[in-house]
Amino acid sequence: MGAVFSRMEVKKIRRRVRTWHRGRAERGAAPRGHRAFGWTDDGIIADGREKALIIKAVEDLLAGKSQGTVLREWLEKGVKTPQGNDWSRASLRKMLMNPRLCGWRMIKGEIIEVDGKPVVGEWEPIITPEQSQAIRALYEARLGKAVTSAGVVGTLARDHREHKHLLSGILRCGRILPDGTMCGARLRVVNNRKQGTYRYYCKDKTQGGCGRLSRRGEKLDEFISEAVLAKLEERSVRRRKKVQPWPGQQELEQWEEAMQELRDRFRKRRISNSFYFDEVERLETDINRLRTERQRYLLTAEQAATDLSDIRRRWYSETDEDRLDLAQKRTYIRECFSAVIVHPAGKGHGSRGTFDPDLIEPVWREG
Ligand SMILES: [Zn+2]
Repeated sequence: MGAVFSRMEVKKIRRRVRTWHRGRAERGAAPRGHRAFGWTDDGIIADGREKALIIKAVEDLLAGKSQGTVLREWLEKGVKTPQGNDWSRASLRKMLMNPRLCGWRMIKGEIIEVDGKPVVGEWEPIITPEQSQAIRALYEARLGKAVTSAGVVGTLARDHREHKHLLSGILRCGRILPDGTMCGARLRVVNNRKQGTYRYYCKDKTQGGCGRLSRRGEKLDEFISEAVLAKLEERSVRRRKKVQPWPGQQELEQWEEAMQELRDRFRKRRISNSFYFDEVERLETDINRLRTERQRYLLTAEQAATDLSDIRRRWYSETDEDRLDLAQKRTYIRECFSAVIVHPAGKGHGSRGTFDPDLIEPVWREG
């Protein structure tokens, strides 16, 4: 009996603590506990150096830099967590995904809202809510949650793992098989360590390829780089217009209002339980779908706003601070092409030594 009683007591206390935390969060009070990276000890005023690091990391990630590159830069600079540890992939991701960075509060993965609007905390925000949403969408996409719709291109179709070559997984074998169809297998990379060169090749039959196509890597990388740069430079001239607001905003607000009204009516006991929960479920599905859409849109908009005028220098630079890493280049390539088909060197084409651009067929995306 005693044991049961004390367990109930513990439950009650836990609930009281939770309610207290939630109440504080809803009032916008800064979270307690150890110091959060980006802020001074009081958790309210931003720390200048850490704030600058966060802003740069967020801008870099939204411009397509890989998290691995950002992490390496932090480790090289000797940046530590508030506990004095080196940053890891997991801790960096957790910190950057926390909406606290834009002044919002999250408890157990849920943003605290009052009347359907996120509560703005009393602490100094470091990035904008749009940036914070875009960063979360970026990570969620990388985790493979949001990458299905055929309309989603570019950033959301980015790599889930880091590649060591510019075009691995992007090139496809164009050899025509005896049955008249195209092989179409993704080309892999093989290194020739002695010569310090590499080739893209088609896997053998047992692995789903035809095993009969291979091409020098450096020439192919250079050719595709030039094709992408030409496209991006053209786009930077065309796309100097301002990013349009998300077109679904009005619809989302209507659903959110409907949800609010439903809650009010339920509170005043004007509707039945079953009606309420059925409707809530329906509305929540629509609201969540629209919120996901908004995140994707903001993410793409951020990308479109990135300055492309200087892209050629950044693409080929090996030393500049703002040089593009492999993940960024691959993102741009994927934005431009849905695939690149490599046709076999047949009669009339020198198969070895010479590089024939006519045998490379980029499949451009629309727009
Ligand atoms: Zn093949």
